[in-house]
Amino acid sequence: MLQRMAIEEFTKEPKIAYFSMEIGIKNDIKTYSGGLGVLAGDTIKSAADLRLPMIAVTLLTKKGYFKQELDIFGRQTELPDDWDPNIFMTPLKERAIVLIEKREVQIAPWLYVVASATGGKVPIIFLDTDLPENSPGDREITHRLYGGDSAYRFKQEIVLGIGGTRIIEELGFEIKKYHMNEGHSSLLTLELLKRYKKDIEEVWDERLVWDAEKVRSLCVFTTHTPVAAGHDRFPYDLVQRILYDTIPINVIQEFAGKEDLNMTLLGINLSNYINGVAKKHGEVSKVMFPGYVIHAITNGVHSFTWTCDSFKRLYDKFLPGWANEPEIFVRVGRIPDEEMWEAHMEAKRILIDYVNRETQAGMNYDTLTIGFARRATAYKRADLLFADQERLARTCEGRIQIIYAGKAHPRDETGKQLIQHIFEIRDRLKSKIKIAFIKNYNMDIALKLISGVDIWLNTPLRPYEASGTSGMKATHNGVPNFSVLDGWWIEGHIEGYTGWAIGPSPDVPADPARDADDLYYKLETMIIPAFYNEKKIWIRIMENAIGKNAYYFNTHRMMRLYVTEAYIR
Ligand SMILES: *Cc1c(COP(=O)(O)O)cnc(C)c1O
Repeated sequence: MLQRMAIEEFTKEPKIAYFSMEIGIKNDIKTYSGGLGVLAGDTIKSAADLRLPMIAVTLLTKKGYFKQELDIFGRQTELPDDWDPNIFMTPLKERAIVLIEKREVQIAPWLYVVASATGGKVPIIFLDTDLPENSPGDREITHRLYGGDSAYRFKQEIVLGIGGTRIIEELGFEIKKYHMNEGHSSLLTLELLKRYKKDIEEVWDERLVWDAEKVRSLCVFTTHTPVAAGHDRFPYDLVQRILYDTIPINVIQEFAGKEDLNMTLLGINLSNYINGVAKKHGEVSKVMFPGYVIHAITNGVHSFTWTCDSFKRLYDKFLPGWANEPEIFVRVGRIPDEEMWEAHMEAKRILIDYVNRETQAGMNYDTLTIGFARRATAYKRADLLFADQERLARTCEGRIQIIYAGKAHPRDETGKQLIQHIFEIRDRLKSKIKIAFIKNYNMDIALKLISGVDIWLNTPLRPYEASGTSGMKATHNGVPNFSVLDGWWIEGHIEGYTGWAIGPSPDVPADPARDADDLYYKLETMIIPAFYNEKKIWIRIMENAIGKNAYYFNTHRMMRLYVTEAYIR
């Protein structure tokens, strides 16, 4: 689908500029790795549906994140995930230049337009340094998402934050707010400080020329990381070696920290609206950054993108208008039980056929199917379900089947071991419980999984799950969550009504050692019996997942909050 569109169509009115290191708009545009990028894509799609004046900026990452190969032991190898931007987007002739290690690096923009059925359109500018004018090393800056060392990452962040800001000005955009989706784009604040310097003659204190207030009035910062160690930091010797053509280092230190350049600190010091991505995450962020006013806007997902075909048909029939007005899910009770169940079984058959084709797992349509798919990393505890294999085999034999998927970051050794551990248990429990691991988790596989399983499992170690979004996708397909009370689930959970909790309530201290016990207990005494013996109650819970969870945890509601809380100020 070629989009030969003139950029002039979009520069007529002032825009919100949404900056994100990754954007997941569709499976074949491989500029995303996981939750953060998919959230960015969903944000942009809802902005287009709601006809918001937005423009988005990201990197072109032509070699993608990586393609996951797994051997018979579950050992991961990472292959390049090349894709061809020419198929999807239009190169523009404008250029921006940034100085990196004193070299001029040229940046070219590509235009992709997210066009909604409502007539709304949001242009995405993909930044590309792979140009003959650049040195071979600089051509690679925009190749790999989250690849390379910290110097490579810092160069990418210069291109995104500083280059991105320059290019949208070059393209003729007037920007009324800059929204940083996580700290990777925070260097844009330095570019704005430079641009809006006060015009004072005879300065007696050089600090007076920097108009931080002006920059703050233009910036919104969203943090996604509930642990201090998770924030991007760069040592100042690296910064001084690589970054030129910006404001003096002592001024940067004032906003970004004395010891090293902390991208989150830089972003929050130069924004007048800062938010976490769930209520709990907002609280956790306040403790991490005392003295700052930190709000919370709970994430959502794009309803139309994350609803499978059979449920789309069901909603079109009983809840017309749902896709651009997810509030209509409040009337989910209009859908007859049998039709709801049939729509679910259609999605389930598609998933089970796919899993059996991919893995020869021999799964069947009628067994209670548990899904778990997300980044393979320690805090997500993908193997919590196997804490007591004896008990699992004894009480759940033949009653459940489990489908896994997820990539580990190339340098995350514990994450890689988690995948191997799942393979090991899969082989060990083979005769009792069917377990499958689908390789190369991506947006297409995600849609099959979140719509085709019977329950969606999530077992993060509290409070590390800032929000989580895959569970919200599941609820759009009537799939209830079974999850630790962290992130969004604290807000979406009503026990036995919208789904089930694992472990203690969020107001009491976490007790990770007992989470597995609680998981087994609920599985044995509530979930398995309800699924096999109380179909009416089960379908009521599916209905509540839609009417109480999907109704609220969508990006239409989320974007309306960003507009009223953050953008219009
Ligand atoms: C939604 C999504 C995620 C995020 O999953 P969480 O459970 O929120 O971590 C990751 N990867 C892909 C491909 C997704 O579609």
